[in-house]
Amino acid sequence: MRYKLFIPGPCEVDEEVLAAMGQPTPRHYGPEWMEVFRETIGLLKQVFQTQNDLFIVPGAGSAALDMALGSLLREGETVVVGNNGFFGERLGTIAQAHGLRVVWLAAPEGKPLDPDDLRRVLDREPEAKAVAVVHHETATTVLNPLRELAAVANERGLPIIVDAISSLGGVPLPVDEWHIDVCVTVANKCLECPPGLALVSVSPRAWEWVDRHEEQTHGWYLSLRTWREYATKWADWHPYPVTLPTNNILALRVSLRRILAEGLEARYERYRWAAQAVRQGLKAMGFEMFVEGSFASPIATAVKARSEFKVDELVHYLAKEHGILVSGGIGPLHGKIFRVGHMGKASTLPYLMEFLFAVEEFLRKKGLEIPPGASLVGLTHYAVRDT
Ligand SMILES: *Cc1c(COP(=O)(O)O)cnc(C)c1O
Repeated sequence: MRYKLFIPGPCEVDEEVLAAMGQPTPRHYGPEWMEVFRETIGLLKQVFQTQNDLFIVPGAGSAALDMALGSLLREGETVVVGNNGFFGERLGTIAQAHGLRVVWLAAPEGKPLDPDDLRRVLDREPEAKAVAVVHHETATTVLNPLRELAAVANERGLPIIVDAISSLGGVPLPVDEWHIDVCVTVANKCLECPPGLALVSVSPRAWEWVDRHEEQTHGWYLSLRTWREYATKWADWHPYPVTLPTNNILALRVSLRRILAEGLEARYERYRWAAQAVRQGLKAMGFEMFVEGSFASPIATAVKARSEFKVDELVHYLAKEHGILVSGGIGPLHGKIFRVGHMGKASTLPYLMEFLFAVEEFLRKKGLEIPPGASLVGLTHYAVRDT
């Protein structure tokens, strides 16, 4: 069965992007391929809004997080890690796996990290060598105040490593303007491509950190030094140490062209529009949102469970009757929330209407009285976009 993906990643990819995946597989080196590769890096730098070095690393986003933490820091060093949900905790777990001492900057689930808290933690921890945070905590749909957090790290002269896996391309994140030293994302969330590629930008200060130590201590493949070495040594024909998944990169190039043709601001606006359409519609049918206010992300929406039915009933109904997939809560939020993603086709009018109508139908089947069309109020209170 073909499902409509309303999960917070991967998202449903446009046919034009999928068609690029199906092209004859090009070789991953040589002059023709280098043109594709260079164009793709150039487009990525526009979306990252950076002039920093940028690498396309085959693998999941976690591979690039591993690479960042392992390359900038050494065993025994201290890193401050933001934790207000599952992916923040995961970031700390990756740091600990490198033998780093993790000092947590914690906030309750559903609340953002506090830049003043970061200042206090750094006052207490003069030995801290870096800060690592998640931008969009996908588990709760809180968008952390990255610009302010980065400013604090910057004040102290410390590099900041950012898990922007579910945010880059979906919300403003000007890497250079905000002084993000290492910015990690993937192809399969707001960049609206199939999974398979991690993307990482590296600032001059991040390189200084990498070069503080003579020896390379944490392996070869996921070491930024290895990638820099090949970007220089084999610059004109094969500027990376391994075989790249060329079809994934062809797809990424198409998607990046589409994003830049739409315009970054227009893209962010489309996600905002989709998010408010979902929120207003669900609220009109009696749901409460898990995150309110300026920290509620436009990339995904977490909705509270309610007393009349279990979250799983709704999730199964949407999948079985409408082929629509939404996510439940993970970890301690299991059964307490469900999450709706606004990436890819989920941010288009026909998809939104189908999803909202399906929820309305489910509630009616549960015996709740919902005024006909209540679910669509968010689509009518806002200029409908022709996407
Ligand atoms: C999806 C996601 C991850 C995990 O990415 P992988 O590609 O599975 O390693 C990490 N962090 C955040 C914020 C995410 O949304």
